[in-house]
Amino acid sequence: MKLWLTSLCAAACFSLPAQQLELNHDLAYKLLESLTVEVGPRLAGSAADARSVAWAQRHFKQLGYDKVWVEPFNMQYWERGQASLQVNAPFSQSLVVTALGGSIGTPFDGINSQVVMFDTLEQLQQANPADVKNRIVFINHALERDIRGGFYGGVVGGRARGAVEAAKLGASALIIRSVGSSNNRFAHTGIMRYDDDVERIPAAAISIPDAQQLSKMLSINPELSLTLHMQNNLPGTVTSHNVIAEITGSKRPDEIVLISAHLDSWDEGTGALDDGAGVGIVMAAGALLKAERPERTIRVVLFGNEEGGLIGARAYAAQHHQQLATHVFASESDFGAGRVWRFDTGFGEQALTFGAQLQQKLKHLGIAMGPNTASGGPDVSILKAQGVPVATLQQDGTDYFDYHHTPNDTLDKIDPTALRQNLEAWLIMTREIANSSVDLRL
Ligand code: ZN
Ligand code: ZN
Repeated sequence: MKLWLTSLCAAACFSLPAQQLELNHDLAYKLLESLTVEVGPRLAGSAADARSVAWAQRHFKQLGYDKVWVEPFNMQYWERGQASLQVNAPFSQSLVVTALGGSIGTPFDGINSQVVMFDTLEQLQQANPADVKNRIVFINHALERDIRGGFYGGVVGGRARGAVEAAKLGASALIIRSVGSSNNRFAHTGIMRYDDDVERIPAAAISIPDAQQLSKMLSINPELSLTLHMQNNLPGTVTSHNVIAEITGSKRPDEIVLISAHLDSWDEGTGALDDGAGVGIVMAAGALLKAERPERTIRVVLFGNEEGGLIGARAYAAQHHQQLATHVFASESDFGAGRVWRFDTGFGEQALTFGAQLQQKLKHLGIAMGPNTASGGPDVSILKAQGVPVATLQQDGTDYFDYHHTPNDTLDKIDPTALRQNLEAWLIMTREIANSSVDLRL
């Protein structure tokens, strides 16, 4: 059935012509709108992912890019199934739950166990195995808001590593308080991992109001038990693609200025903020700069399967390992569509004056100079680790984790004015670097 649907779509959907989009400063929004409306959710490895790859190729060509190609990579496919979480008597009720990406399902009859709560992953790691054995572990770690999303790194370990740490102590399943900052009754998904030598247990997230609810129940009745049902599908290895397009440099075509975003999204929203906005911004930036005949080549990379653990970015770095010396710069837009407020660099000492001059050109957009510690973005951090200079146009992410990885990540959350400001900033940064001969390398 699934194969039939995919091949039907191959005939009917992939042949759609790209809508004619005008080369103006609304282009980022128009691309984002087209991607979220016409493709929608695009879980890596799914039929929708393949449609997004076709969508990107069509639009790159229509926008006049000089070269457009795809690079395949293999990945483990995972598909969400039904999930439910029931509080057993005496407080019988349902909680809002969703599977974490990569999690196995439960046995058909579910897992019915007493629950034990920890405030953090670190607290779980120090627990007495007797308190955890055969129980459902609940990590109730709250995420605080801030403009940079700076607390995310300290909380997300519970999502990524919680199942392994809980299983080491004999737990039957893991549930976490969603790594998010919304008080809506949506759970936030996201990737989790197993270790080969630790038993695999199911892992899921509950919404923040439900985490508060469960915590109150446990303070009244520490013996509380839950029943978790979850059916996920892990069919094995499939192929996905990075989509790449270039505006060939007019003077130094062998020097690559890489700007990027990730094309895949989680399955429950339409991936407008994560990362349709970034896709729109970088596709538009390259297209609008073509008429200026930039001196270096502008390469736009739409990475596949970022959400599964930077899988497309790792494949890109491996495939282009020999040519990374020609990558004079890389950056990624992957933090929604909030206004850019700071320009962070990851340049060599010799290029810091150039970085400061570039910030002067961004200043009228309200963008301050940041530190020289930029990662460049999640996918681009892989390139930075191999010596490629990077920068980050820091966005205001105060409400980013309200929507992140939820069904609520949809087009209406985008402020077109802020998206236009992002595009302006990317145009200036990309133009200045593409027309410079400064060596940015560390
Ligand atoms: Zn992202
Ligand atoms: Zn994401």
